[in-house]
Amino acid sequence: MKPAWRIPFAVVGILLLAPLFTAATAACAAAADSPQPQVLIVVGPSQHPPGTHEVPAGARVMEYMLEHAEGIPPVAAEIVDRWPQDKRLLDHVKTVVFTGDIFPGETLPNPEAIKADLTAMMARGCGIVCVHYATGLRAQHVTADGDHPLLRWMGGYFATGCEHHRSVARVVTATLAPAEVDHPVLRGWKAFTFDDEPYWNNYFGKDGPAANVTPLVTTMMPPDAPKKETVVWAVQRPDGGRGLGVVVPHYFRSWRIADLRTLVLNGICWTAQLEIPAAGIHCMLPDLAQFKPASVEPLPPQKPKPKTAS
Ligand SMILES: [Zn+2]
Repeated sequence: MKPAWRIPFAVVGILLLAPLFTAATAACAAAADSPQPQVLIVVGPSQHPPGTHEVPAGARVMEYMLEHAEGIPPVAAEIVDRWPQDKRLLDHVKTVVFTGDIFPGETLPNPEAIKADLTAMMARGCGIVCVHYATGLRAQHVTADGDHPLLRWMGGYFATGCEHHRSVARVVTATLAPAEVDHPVLRGWKAFTFDDEPYWNNYFGKDGPAANVTPLVTTMMPPDAPKKETVVWAVQRPDGGRGLGVVVPHYFRSWRIADLRTLVLNGICWTAQLEIPAAGIHCMLPDLAQFKPASVEPLPPQKPKPKTAS
């Protein structure tokens, strides 16, 4: 039986495919509307009690600060909790920020593949920042004499549970002060005092910091025998890329400190090769609870802290 009506085949094709074209066009428009991320924030595994580390919420704080920064155009950031398989994303970002317990390049699945990607990213001049415990490496991650690519990518690391070097993690009252150098990361903030866990005796290589590593922020530790310790440092690499290690914050509530926020914002943006204004980069935050940590304030640990954890 013949249909009561006929529509030419080509017209049927257009009618059937039109919604697809429309959807594709909309997707392209959406991609064009949302800026490509300049900063990739990688959240590694963490097992710290509520109110401490809080790495997913801390990542959201950093993303918010970048996207609401005052004094510079908004910086687009993307948060991931696994290493991206999208090479275009890896090829595009200007800097990668790590947060987590121990350097996530070692603790996420397939660390060798991640480090291979990072090697390529660093070679093209991509920046790298590690925050607090993400600056950490254990004995199994480094050679017997402490070598690891992070030493060259970022200039140093927090050596925990290592034989070659023992960095120290302890919650103390500390004053973080800018070093006496002229550096963009030091713009627009002043020394501040807080209760936190500023790792000290960090590892910068067998012969100490390389010539291209600049100590940026120091604190006097330990409290009973104080000497100047570097807690934030920068590296300007031969490949043109920049790295920054910042060994705080341990407590999520420390993000309330405006000077710390400017220090971290300046640092991330400097590694992304952005111009840091003379007044530094600032960002006011809403209530920290809006970033959905398990707790804004620290709660007692559920289980004893491992000896070498921090
Ligand atoms: Zn900590």
